[in-house]
Amino acid sequence: MPEEYADLHDPNANYTMRDLSGETMGVTGDRGVRSVEITDVQTTMVDGNFPWTLVRVYTDAGVVGTGEAYWGAGVPELIDRMKPFVVGENPLDIDRLYEHLIQKMSGEGSIEGATVTAISGIDVALHDLAGKLLDIPAYQLLGGKYRDEVRVYCDCHTEEEADPVACADEAERVVEELGYDALKFDLDVPSGLEKDRANRHLRPGEIRHKIDIVEEVTERVKDRADVAFDCHWSFSANSAERLAAELEEYDVWWLEDPVPPENLSVQETVTRSTTTPITAGENRYRLSEHRRLIESEAVDIIAPDMPKVGGMRETRKIADLANQYYIPVAMHNVSSPIGTVASAHVGSAIPNMLAVEYHSYELGWWGDLVEESIIEDGSITIPEKSGLGVTLDLDVVAEHMVDGETLFDPA
Ligand code: MG
Repeated sequence: MPEEYADLHDPNANYTMRDLSGETMGVTGDRGVRSVEITDVQTTMVDGNFPWTLVRVYTDAGVVGTGEAYWGAGVPELIDRMKPFVVGENPLDIDRLYEHLIQKMSGEGSIEGATVTAISGIDVALHDLAGKLLDIPAYQLLGGKYRDEVRVYCDCHTEEEADPVACADEAERVVEELGYDALKFDLDVPSGLEKDRANRHLRPGEIRHKIDIVEEVTERVKDRADVAFDCHWSFSANSAERLAAELEEYDVWWLEDPVPPENLSVQETVTRSTTTPITAGENRYRLSEHRRLIESEAVDIIAPDMPKVGGMRETRKIADLANQYYIPVAMHNVSSPIGTVASAHVGSAIPNMLAVEYHSYELGWWGDLVEESIIEDGSITIPEKSGLGVTLDLDVVAEHMVDGETLFDPA
């Protein structure tokens, strides 16, 4: 870093901007466990089916919190830049530290995007850490339990993703052999009939092909599983409306992201056009961006990605606002067991939880990353140990680290 920028990393530098550090705010830390201070923040990237970005927050009490940020270029570097703003702080002041980082990282763009993702990873680690320091499970920090188990839906893939029968065969296998009663398939798969995918317009034969996939899968699993379908922001408003209308008779769990995410009024128009439940949210950040989706009733189900959207407290805030509009929450998730269990802790603590995604069933070693067993019979039983209640297996982390990464320091 150039010398002239060094003071940007000095937490004691005399900023003119709003400063929420404990010292500036006059927050005291001398009562029992509140005397603990953060001493370091480290990241290690693991080469899973995504480059999982694991985060550790260290303290002078020897207690360490482990979290995870959604993957993405620059996230470890952004976490490293935030280190001076949390070192010396009290790890129990999770909400203030979140706002402090949003403020301090405004130059890096902390309204949305990778900076919010990086802050999310620290927030998750702080929930693990605070739970350990207070000897309570992380869900307790969020208000306690609505449920002991959080339902998990399995994001399904087959090599013949455009073949309705192959999709139905995979659905059958995931239900019968892996024990899930909630599934999701991609519906933005090529039918072979496309002339130009850039214009987003679905030709009549393309809609028929998508309906064939939905029909084949839902009729195969019948009432053994709820099935959602994801479109990854692919279609025009009219195409999305025609597709959603055709899907109404199949009683799908939801149709996800049929239109691009930027234009809220299009999202609202499509959602209101159909009784097929429409889901969106995974590429929006913070309560501020979800607020407009929720308050305009532009979704039937909201799908925040916890380690991306701002972390565990921010997801709780989004869920609480959604609940004012009777909107359920289906958490988008592509994380390792750390981010997944952290999402489940939030899911345990909010009334309007539907399910959390599992996106790694083809990987084989996903569950090996932690010592505990995580997903059983299509659900996560919320751990009762302090913090997130899971322990990283550092040997497995070391085995699967992204090339060039360094393993965390010992706790
Ligand atoms: Mg999706």
